[in-house]
Amino acid sequence: MRGLSLPSVGGRPAIVARVLADLSGPEQACLEFAWQALLAGSIPIGAVVADADGTVIGSGRNAVYGQAELPAISSSLLAHAEINALIGLAVGRSYPECRLVTSFEPCQMCTGALWMARVGALTYLGADPVNGTSWILESARYVGHRPVGVTGPRADESGRLASGLVVAYHLRHRPAGRYIGACRKVCPDLVAVGATLIEAGIFELAAGREPWAAAAPALLAAVERAG
Ligand SMILES: [Zn+2]
Repeated sequence: MRGLSLPSVGGRPAIVARVLADLSGPEQACLEFAWQALLAGSIPIGAVVADADGTVIGSGRNAVYGQAELPAISSSLLAHAEINALIGLAVGRSYPECRLVTSFEPCQMCTGALWMARVGALTYLGADPVNGTSWILESARYVGHRPVGVTGPRADESGRLASGLVVAYHLRHRPAGRYIGACRKVCPDLVAVGATLIEAGIFELAAGREPWAAAAPALLAAVERAG
C-alpha cells in the first residue's frame, strides 16, 4: 500500500458502533485520515483508493496546511486528500475495479484527477453543497465515454460528521471567508453541525492529539444532537 499507514479504532461506545458499523473499512479509514489531517493543522479530509475486495491500494489526507510529513504532495494548494490517495497509482494500467473513497465530496480538481487516474468509481461520505463537483462524472460530455459510478452522500451521522469537520475547520480559521459565506446561504444545516462540533470541543480534542477512537464518540454524539 502506498501512502499513510492505516490507523486502527479500538473500543467504541454505542453511537460509534452503530454509525461506523454501517461503513466499509475504506470509508472508516477516510474519517480517520480526515482526523489525522486536522491533527496536522490542515483541512480534515481523508481519502483512499480501494480495490474490489476493499483492500486499500492508496491513501492520503489533505495536506494544504500544517505539518508536511507526507510522502506525496504537501504544503501546496493542490495537496488535497484525493490527489494524495491517487498520485501513487502506477501508470500504464486502468483501475475500473477500484473505487476512490473520500470523506468529503471532491472538488473539480479531484473529480478530474479520479477520471484521469482511470479509477472506476467514486464514493464520498459528506456532501459539499458549495464546491462539490461529483456531478461532473455523471453529466459532463468529456467524461461521458467512460462512465464512473458515484455513491454519496451518506444521510446518517457519518455523512454529516464528514461535512461538519470541514465546515468546523473553516468556521474556526476563516469565519468571514467566502466558503463559510456560501455555506450560510446554501447549507446552513451544515454550518449548524460545524458549530456544534466546535461547541463539543473538536479543536480541544485535536490540540490534545486525541486519537480518532477517542474523539469519534464525542463528535458523533454532537452531530446526533445537531439533528
Ligand atoms: Zn479536491
